[in-house]
Amino acid sequence: MTRADAEAATPATLALDAARRALEDMSRRARLMIDTANDAVVTIDPASIIIDWNRTAERMFGWRRDEAVGQVLTDLIVPPQHRESHHRGLKRYLSDRTPGILNRRVETTALDRTGREFDIELSVWPVETGSGFTFSAFIRDISERRRAEAALRESEEKYRLVVENAYEGIVVSQDGMLKYANPRALTLTRRTLAQAMSTPFIEMVHPDDRARVYGNYLRRLRGEAVEPFYKFRVVDTAGETKWLQISAVGIEWDGRPATLNFLTDVTEQVALEANAAQTLALREAILETTAVGIMFIQAGRIKWINDALERGMLGFDDGEIVGHTGEVAFLDHSDWSRFLHECIPALERTGTYSSDWRVKRKDGSPWWCHMSAKALKPSDLGAGTIWFFIDISARKRAEEEVHRALGRERELSELKTRFVSLTSHEFRTPLATILSSIELIDDFGSKLPDAERAELIRIVKAAIKRMTAMIDQVMLIGRAESDKLEFRPQPADACEIAQSVARETEQALGRRGTVRFTSRGDCGRRLVDGKLLAHVLGNLLSNAIKYSPEDSPVDLDIEAREAMLVMRVADRGIGIPPEDHARLFESFHRARNVGNVEGTGLGLTIVKQCAQLHGGRVEFESAAGQGSTFTVHLLAPPAP
Ligand code: ADP
Repeated sequence: MTRADAEAATPATLALDAARRALEDMSRRARLMIDTANDAVVTIDPASIIIDWNRTAERMFGWRRDEAVGQVLTDLIVPPQHRESHHRGLKRYLSDRTPGILNRRVETTALDRTGREFDIELSVWPVETGSGFTFSAFIRDISERRRAEAALRESEEKYRLVVENAYEGIVVSQDGMLKYANPRALTLTRRTLAQAMSTPFIEMVHPDDRARVYGNYLRRLRGEAVEPFYKFRVVDTAGETKWLQISAVGIEWDGRPATLNFLTDVTEQVALEANAAQTLALREAILETTAVGIMFIQAGRIKWINDALERGMLGFDDGEIVGHTGEVAFLDHSDWSRFLHECIPALERTGTYSSDWRVKRKDGSPWWCHMSAKALKPSDLGAGTIWFFIDISARKRAEEEVHRALGRERELSELKTRFVSLTSHEFRTPLATILSSIELIDDFGSKLPDAERAELIRIVKAAIKRMTAMIDQVMLIGRAESDKLEFRPQPADACEIAQSVARETEQALGRRGTVRFTSRGDCGRRLVDGKLLAHVLGNLLSNAIKYSPEDSPVDLDIEAREAMLVMRVADRGIGIPPEDHARLFESFHRARNVGNVEGTGLGLTIVKQCAQLHGGRVEFESAAGQGSTFTVHLLAPPAP
């Protein structure tokens, strides 16, 4: 500063300087703010000539500051339809200060350099200067916001359409009241919107379901876990009950907790379900109470089985054999595989199978069942087969009984037939002998020499003896066949009995000393039926003697083998031709080579029956001309 300057620097000039500097500072700061503002800032003079144009204005409208300044604002960025009102407003303000659009936010449109019209928000501030007015406009591009608003409106409209036309009822409830209900929800409860909104929603719920619905509602409001779907009943204004399925979520409605509920009318479905359940229960009851055993097999395994079969017929516990194959009911594996070989081809061919099988219970006891099956699809047995079982044990038992009785009846009647033919044949000979002998004695009486008369009487006696023996044998067989011959074992010495029978037989046939007796093992005290043993040995020994030459010996051997006695009677006589072997034990059957040897054909029948009664059996080996050996096994355990 020069001295002159310093002198000129009066307080007034100093203050002026300071004021100027402050002003410059402020206008620099204002400039900076304007240039960095987010809004476009455009300033015009009263003739609408642009006098300022910030950077944001350059970006928003596409005109550089040097291009814009000096232009008429309306020509540059105001769309033609707004130009007139712009000028009018400006003029009015300048004449009588009518604020018009000044000092407030206005939404309008503007043009950019390319001629594109876009939405803007505008506020215009008049600034009074020394020479008059300037107007600064702060302009914000709101086209983006507008688009978002339009999109929001559109999507709201879409949602509204969906909600209003939804087939599901949609309601919002808060504080126990409905805050919103779509038309479908109103139809479901037969209420108008006003009625629905003014009725506590719990009143629309069926009294029996109120506790549950309200409990769920409160829990949902508290944010606790609630069953996501459940059914409950509502009663509409006409008193009609409907089943609704509800799914609900907790939401905020007007800033406070509420629930959003979706309601589907499931009345028909519930009725159908109830119907189906009833039908099923009925069917189940029928299947379970029937006396017929029923099961369903799928892929070879028991899928379902009724009580009558599982517990009643098979003796298993409830559900115990579900998942098993049917083999559990068969007596053994070979029965099971025979059964499979039989039923599978039948089911494949005809779709059905039926047969009687002897099966078993869990405890192993056997029973007879009639089973029948039907395949759901014969071409694919794995799809399933239904099986029905009927216990026919009683029927089978009766059948067997009848069978046995018939068999016995037949045997007896055959025996009788044979006996009748025998009497007509075998009895005639001795009777004829007796008759002729008696006639001779009658005719010649005392004229007959003593010796001849004695011979005739001996012949008569022999014939009578033979007939008596035959009648005895027939009666014995008759008793055996009608189960009247009994087995009464007693402690006795089998060897003693055998030897005494041998002596009696020798004597009866007049062949003393023919039988050679041997024994092995301990056949002393045994449990034997002496009578049966005597019938067995008596007949075998008498045959052996009868069918052997006079001087030929007969061997009788007894061997004790644990609980058995094995007795062998061997001769060296005429033997038995092979053609007669098969029928040897039939009553009245005699081999073709017997010649004059007397006999009835009943002895071996008696031997066989007595041996069987004694828990044993008879076998023989023989060849014509070479003798025979008969072997008898009898059950005769040592006596205690
Ligand atoms: P029978 O009273 O005729 O001897 P059996 O029933 O005792 O009747 O025997 C049946 C038949 O078996 C006899 O008729 C005989 O043909 C034959 N038979 C039995 N035992 C012998 C034996 N030891 N030697 C040869 N044949 C025998």
